Amino acid sequence: MEKLIYLDNAATTKTAPEVVEAMLPYFSEYYGNPSSIYTFAAKNKEVETQQREKIAQILGAKTNEIYFTAGGTEADNWALKATAEAYEKKGKHIITTKIEHHAILHTCQYLEGRGFEVTCLDVDEYGLVNPEELERAIRPDTILISVMFANNEIGTIEPIKEIGEIASRHGVLFHTDAVQAFGQVPINVDEFHIDMLSASGHKLNGPKGIGFLYIRKGVKIRSFIHGGAQERKRRAGTENVPGIVGLGTAARRAAETMKERAEKESTLRDYLIERVLDEIPYTRLNGHPQKRLPNNANFSFEFIEGESMLIRLDMAGVCASSGSACTSGSLDPSHVLLAIGLPHEKAHGSLRLTLGEETTKEELDYVVDQLKVIVKELRDMSPLYEDFVKQKNKMKHVH
Ligand code: PLP
Repeated sequence: MEKLIYLDNAATTKTAPEVVEAMLPYFSEYYGNPSSIYTFAAKNKEVETQQREKIAQILGAKTNEIYFTAGGTEADNWALKATAEAYEKKGKHIITTKIEHHAILHTCQYLEGRGFEVTCLDVDEYGLVNPEELERAIRPDTILISVMFANNEIGTIEPIKEIGEIASRHGVLFHTDAVQAFGQVPINVDEFHIDMLSASGHKLNGPKGIGFLYIRKGVKIRSFIHGGAQERKRRAGTENVPGIVGLGTAARRAAETMKERAEKESTLRDYLIERVLDEIPYTRLNGHPQKRLPNNANFSFEFIEGESMLIRLDMAGVCASSGSACTSGSLDPSHVLLAIGLPHEKAHGSLRLTLGEETTKEELDYVVDQLKVIVKELRDMSPLYEDFVKQKNKMKHVH
């Protein structure tokens, strides 16, 4: 096989072999519909409950507070739309941030079209939400606060505990999109005062097309998908049993290995950041230097188009991203990078490298060596860089 260095683990991860192994029997051996009465199928109901239990334990939640969905996007849609509907008599104001995933932002736009008012909070240069500002934005008609646990592009981890405390003090529901954080950093729903939390299987070495929404008992959230009585009548549809087993297995595995993985990945990440910033001039790190996911590095290279860099990296066998996978393909600069104050040119020249459990130092060395060449060659072709160098030389002669 040709060289492949996968540094796009925020987009998706490799399904771990033991996860696949755990799922396999549920395709052709134990394929019964969990809603059927006979033992062969009804056993799958138990299997499902066991997975729910595993996930609940990791979050410090109760088993029946975990609802399976078809992924993070569905969980986000559900949390926002169903809360809006259930609480609209109390008020129609929602607070979120400018750096959320489109699963949140586009859902908010949809709700705005239905008479809800959305306050989108600014973030600072590192992508952090200011809890005081958030508190000031709360109004008597605020029904929901939705702030992501960690950002998918720049990796910044938000002050979730403080935000949760504020929400709880004001009696406002608090949802967090933890799609990037669940399995990477410890989360306890009680400690952080979280009422709803979205997560997704394929970001933690689990399968695609499965995720969950945690809904705290007592939250008046309506059914999202109508039909059968699955998921306590709140999300109809025959359960994706192999997916649920895969998600549960991946979640437990991620929880068990979290500490050592975080240590290993953050050490490698810091090594990568140091080498890139030291060896490639006119480069900056995006996101918070410390409060960031252990596997995320995001850089802006001046005078460069992110897309050209991605193509060149691809030719060198390196999988990377220039923003979130969902926005690549569009020419708009990333809304996250603009929100942290980057001008359009710098936002365009961004590169996200997200490490995985199999990433090695040798791979990172290869990537940095390639990047040095690619950045130099692309800059040599850039008229902007040429002007910059001319200007710099002129200044040198003046001094
Ligand atoms: N939220 C965040 C922060 C994400 O990073 C993603 C995926 O990239 C999603 C939501 C959507 O999750 P899914 O791909 O499971 O629908």
